[in-house]
Amino acid sequence: MKTLKIAIQKSGRLNEKSVELLKNCGLSFENYKSSLISPVSNFPLEILFLRDDDIPEYVQDGIADLGIVGENVIRETEVEVSYLQRLGFGKCSLKIAVPNNNSIQHLDQLNGKAIATTYPVILGKFLKEKNIQADIRTISGSVEISPGLGLSDAICDLVSTGGTLKSNGLVPFADVMSSEAVLIGRKGSENEELVKELIQRIQSVLRAKETKYVVLNVHSDNLSAIINLLPGVKSPSVVPLAEENWVAVHTVIPERDFWDKISQLKQAGAQGIVVMPIEKIIL
Ligand code: ATP
Ligand code: MG
Repeated sequence: MKTLKIAIQKSGRLNEKSVELLKNCGLSFENYKSSLISPVSNFPLEILFLRDDDIPEYVQDGIADLGIVGENVIRETEVEVSYLQRLGFGKCSLKIAVPNNNSIQHLDQLNGKAIATTYPVILGKFLKEKNIQADIRTISGSVEISPGLGLSDAICDLVSTGGTLKSNGLVPFADVMSSEAVLIGRKGSENEELVKELIQRIQSVLRAKETKYVVLNVHSDNLSAIINLLPGVKSPSVVPLAEENWVAVHTVIPERDFWDKISQLKQAGAQGIVVMPIEKIIL
């Protein structure tokens, strides 16, 4: 039987979440920090631990069947791969930032300015689209200190909280792209059975993360009001309680409208609400 290979970041911001996702998919492997390859003992899969910059090309060239990497890296390397699944972690934006004492307020004012970045391809396309002629200075790291050193007028770098920019006296000025970790595959690999199986497992873990399992008690007089508040095709389940005229309602609620729903349920007569995390949802 064929063994798939998935490339993930060896160390850095995406490593821990990528390992956690694969483990939550029920895959059993050692997270060797020192080796490049780790076999999975209960699925025909090997995990390659790589620098994130190399992942898109490894997948494009078929050395790995799948990869987990930030969209920013894929766009920068300009490879031909299939986007199989957005993964919801590693969220950040590529932004242009300028020193906070700077008079630049409009994109046009970047004409003729020097912008330091580790993302020259993405930045180049962005500036071209906006018809701006700036001098892109490609550097390999610590971009945020370059205006202070007099190396550039602005920077283009990844931002998540904005803390690094702030501590270097920079303010974000324009959004170039937003990014998150994605599962990529070699073009066409999405049709392979093993790849499909793995994508299904990943989706069941992601779905579970977005929902909570909720159990609540309600007097039968209020049951229809409670049910009207709940989504779900076959849910909720209604179970009689030992106390007459009382039932327990079991259901799942999406994380995004969780607090709204809970307060509506309380107002409609729900009591003893218990909320539990869900491990997997298999459709
Ligand atoms: P490697 O050693 O693998 O080349 P790296 O130093 O290039 O690692 P990291 O800093 O670990 O990369 O970031 C990996 C990815 O995490 C980025 O490409 C991006 O998609 C995502 N990310 C999320 N938030 C941030 C952030 N604030 N700064 C940089 N990257 C971020
Ligand atoms: Mg890198």
